[in-house]
Amino acid sequence: MKKARSGVSHPDIPAEKSNSKLSRRKFLGTSSAALLTAAVAARAERAQSGQQGTQGRREKSMTDPGPENPPIKSASANSFAPPPTDHGEVQTFWNSFSAAHRRIQDGGWSRQVTIEDFPISKEIAGVNMRLTAGGVRELHWHVAAEWAIMLTGSARITAIDNDGRSFVKDVVKDDLWYFPSGTPHSIQGLAPDGAEFVLVFDDGHFSEGNTTLITDWTRHTPPEVLAKNWGVAEHALASVYQGPEAGKYIFQAEVPPPLADDVRDIGGSIGPTPIAFDFSLSKMAPTRKSRFGEVRVVDTRNFPIAKTMAAAHVIVKPGGLREMHWHQNADEWQYFIQGNARMTVFFTGSKARTADFAAGDVGYVPRTMGHYVENVGDTDLIFLEMFKTDRFMDLSLSEWVSNTPPELVMQHLGISKETLRAIPKTKPLVTPV
Ligand code: MN
Ligand code: MN
Repeated sequence: MKKARSGVSHPDIPAEKSNSKLSRRKFLGTSSAALLTAAVAARAERAQSGQQGTQGRREKSMTDPGPENPPIKSASANSFAPPPTDHGEVQTFWNSFSAAHRRIQDGGWSRQVTIEDFPISKEIAGVNMRLTAGGVRELHWHVAAEWAIMLTGSARITAIDNDGRSFVKDVVKDDLWYFPSGTPHSIQGLAPDGAEFVLVFDDGHFSEGNTTLITDWTRHTPPEVLAKNWGVAEHALASVYQGPEAGKYIFQAEVPPPLADDVRDIGGSIGPTPIAFDFSLSKMAPTRKSRFGEVRVVDTRNFPIAKTMAAAHVIVKPGGLREMHWHQNADEWQYFIQGNARMTVFFTGSKARTADFAAGDVGYVPRTMGHYVENVGDTDLIFLEMFKTDRFMDLSLSEWVSNTPPELVMQHLGISKETLRAIPKTKPLVTPV
């Protein structure tokens, strides 16, 4: 079973990319050369079954005596020793927050994967952010809409809706939020240890460095105009002009008071918004569940404000497969939350490539390109499928062949009626059923 479902022996893929000296030493010591060589040999053996005469020559052809970067090589086993079914030149669809520059400030940090570093990622950009307890991602807005998932800790988010009504909410692990284009908002880490989260934007060109910050805009407005605008004395605004030239962006502040206090103290006279800018994924029953996993689909059908972003939160148990499928209406941006996966993307014209994914990685599949995501690790695989659309949509290979005249399918694939009958008639999303 294990051998049949993956060309890579699992233990040689690190469970997580860790920067600790201990795990790095252990990783380099036990996994790189010997285990990878074994995996390559095992793969070569299967690929060459029935061609014993050429096996020796193939193994010789795959040797690699030159310089290598062992951690990257081991984490990319399906690039180093591709399945024999891979073919042609394919644009890279792997990237990782773990290799992204971190912008570190007092109060937290951010890092991003945008089209600048990940050219295939045209429709979506991603940001990974950490805020300390009290750390603030300052009051701001941007052209792109922002969809988010909390990874750990807790945070307070604020916004106002298009009528100026206020929104204040505390969010925890697996809570989502969505702020439409131009909606002003903030995020602040709460006690005891702040928060980490991933932000997903409906534009591959989005950059966290290009948002409208309240301290940046005010700082770059003539003092007499700002004073006139608010009807206050100019000297009362002196502190605005002592802030950093480019705005605060992230800064350390006091941990905010209890949520009820903030709700009570909100200014203005029109009260709270009736709009839910947040969504609790942990309270949602699976949209689809099978023996090998579960999928939760969140789009405008259950999260109405999220008009430009649809999501599927996928859990695949060890040995399971997010089935072969494609999406008719949008590119797919993926974020890997836990575990190890491999994905093959079939790009038409005989082109296919397989890549490896671990927690912290980002994947991308252009609209309508066929793909699967296989759990090749020993823990549950958890990842997000994100789409710039209002409605999650996919078709699976199984439902296609099982809802097409059988004789026609059999003549294409040369398979028997019994085999065709065994193929799932519905779309389980995660297989085997
Ligand atoms: Mn934002
Ligand atoms: Mn997909």
